[in-house]
Amino acid sequence: MKITNLTDNLFLIDQKATYTCGLDLDGEVVLFDSCLDLSIAKKIDKLLGKKIKAIFHTHSHADHVGGDFFFYNKYRCDVYIHKNELSFLSYPYLEPSLLYGGAAYTAITGKFLKAEKIETALPFDSALDLLKELNIELIDLSGHSPAQTGFKFKDVIFVGDALFSEDLIDKYKILYLFYPKSYLKSLETLESLEYKKIIFCHKGYLSKDEALEIIKSNKSHLFEVYKTIYKIADGKTAEEITDILIDRLEIHINMDLISLVNSTVKGYLSWLELDNKLRVYYDKGVRWKQIQ
Ligand SMILES: [Zn+2]
Repeated sequence: MKITNLTDNLFLIDQKATYTCGLDLDGEVVLFDSCLDLSIAKKIDKLLGKKIKAIFHTHSHADHVGGDFFFYNKYRCDVYIHKNELSFLSYPYLEPSLLYGGAAYTAITGKFLKAEKIETALPFDSALDLLKELNIELIDLSGHSPAQTGFKFKDVIFVGDALFSEDLIDKYKILYLFYPKSYLKSLETLESLEYKKIIFCHKGYLSKDEALEIIKSNKSHLFEVYKTIYKIADGKTAEEITDILIDRLEIHINMDLISLVNSTVKGYLSWLELDNKLRVYYDKGVRWKQIQ
């Protein structure tokens, strides 16, 4: 783990698997996302050696919020997130349940998909004065999660999981997205927004020009999956479509990954329905039919 100063008070935390960042306010630190679990939280705490004043979250996924309980118990810091993801922090069982589409099976309730709960988390609306004082703008980057949010610090933006590296797309074949249609809109926001540097969690610290290339790759991935699902959807359930994709793309699944892929497929199906390309019907399962 390594800390790199980006400006006079903004710093990057390289957690190996992910990037997060923080603002140094002399005696105290504001974090932007925490980490996966207790052991990583302890390492960050040791490395910083300062009191955590607050944690702002891009979104509620366990690998971004799993260290909160340690920082909250030690410093009683404020934890902020978009109001539409607040319930996921106070009731973490919602995350695996959303992925599965009902009460979750135990194999998807491990630390990667279900964090320790934080019952005291607050919506961003409660932090407007602090955000103004720190000169931070919020950016709507929903899509990967229902209300994923980016933070703009003058010329640097921290966007959480609103962008993924090409390596990650190659590795997982299907990016986890709650609603791919909104993810596309977020990518367009990242194209049009003014900034010099962008940080995304898995994993990049890039100039705007470099980011534009990665945005292009994310968009082509999105359109490719959209077209593929449209072509194979006729007469099939979401689970059958998922099974075909796993086979065709040679995705190495486990019980975690299967819920992520299947949930993402449902997000694309919803987008295709809205575009009037597919309609839903029931015949021994919820199935999809091509319209055009
Ligand atoms: Zn995420």
